Amino acid sequence: MAGARKPGRNFLFVPGPTNVPDRILRAMHVVMEDHRSSDFPKLTLPLYEDLKKIFKTKDGQVVIYPSSGTGAWESALTNTLSPGDKLLAARFGQFSHLWIELAKRHGLEVIVQEEEWGTGVNPDRIEEALRADRAHAIKGVLVVHNETATGVTSNVGAVRRAIDAAKHPAMLYVDGVSSIASIDFRFDEWGVDLAITGSQKGLMLPAGLGIVCASQKALAAMKDAKCRKAYFDFGDQMRANATGYFPYTPALPLLYGLRESLAVLQEEGLENVFARHHHLAGGARAAVQAWGLKLCAKEPKWHSDTVSAIMVPQGFNGADVIDRAYRRYNLALGAGLSQVAGKLFRIGHLGDLNELMLLGAIAGAEMAMRDTGIEIEFGSGVAAAQAHFRGVQAAKETKVAAE
Ligand code: PLP
Repeated sequence: MAGARKPGRNFLFVPGPTNVPDRILRAMHVVMEDHRSSDFPKLTLPLYEDLKKIFKTKDGQVVIYPSSGTGAWESALTNTLSPGDKLLAARFGQFSHLWIELAKRHGLEVIVQEEEWGTGVNPDRIEEALRADRAHAIKGVLVVHNETATGVTSNVGAVRRAIDAAKHPAMLYVDGVSSIASIDFRFDEWGVDLAITGSQKGLMLPAGLGIVCASQKALAAMKDAKCRKAYFDFGDQMRANATGYFPYTPALPLLYGLRESLAVLQEEGLENVFARHHHLAGGARAAVQAWGLKLCAKEPKWHSDTVSAIMVPQGFNGADVIDRAYRRYNLALGAGLSQVAGKLFRIGHLGDLNELMLLGAIAGAEMAMRDTGIEIEFGSGVAAAQAHFRGVQAAKETKVAAE
């Protein structure tokens, strides 16, 4: 019945926004306060330091905008480049596509390397293009670390090695919107110059914060960057941030939420967070295999630990599965976007999540698939995921017992 109350919790399994833990919700429930008070920097200054641990950087500088990830994309480009500058970017999904389009709208010239959707960045092709650019006209390489549309993770470290092998000075721009704080990300080690993320995925917050981390090289590039910017100017932000303030009214509850989110991540331990995501993703992949279905990601090396994009069999529409799951089971699955619209549905397995929550989503996906005529065996995905979870757990226990 349209508009009827849906009892119980909504199973939110889109790959962002993710579940916001209750303690983060509570932390955001604050009365408003003066963001110019002498107490305010006590809240803000530690956020920058703690975010640096999330990016894994010592010298990088973090900026927090009241925006979504798209604003962070824009700020990373406009603060470090000038109209007419060349960029090199691989396109293999809706988000790599959108970033390229955004760059073009700012007058940047993007050399696009098309890769098959379901694969990711090809470091050899990057190296080849950079070697061919003897005049060093290419100012930056854009990489979407985790392509949320297809469930593909690319090897950012290999891209850095490709840039170095070509002895090219291009800066490395990385979209970590659906990887940072869920999949290992190493800003310093990979020589990333601009990394961007949003609040609504691994950070377990509502959407509303766009976060950028800039290297010293990126900061040096600011002085020659002529792209137009005003609200997103790093300069205004950094001058105000240095003393703990903002050049405009900050999104106060989100900053309190961010403080709690960083505490939650620290308590679990970042490496444990990554391991948990890998563990859960293994369960989702085991379910897909048991259903006899295929991931959009073509090979295990592309498998994403934050989102699985599951191809529906020929003759079926992924949108029907998603609609059925939502209406009948109160389960939100991710849609197929653009080129893969209707061809797949996505299970986001990132953020504040455990085995039983994911098993619920797998069970719901099974029911929705059966309702739309896809012949999978009830319980097959659930059982495979359980076996994966138990197998991994049992192996861990055996290892501990043996030690
Ligand atoms: N990049 C990636 C990889 C994404 O998954 C998204 C959103 O899902 C974006 C960028 C855009 O971020 P936002 O929707 O927060 O603007």
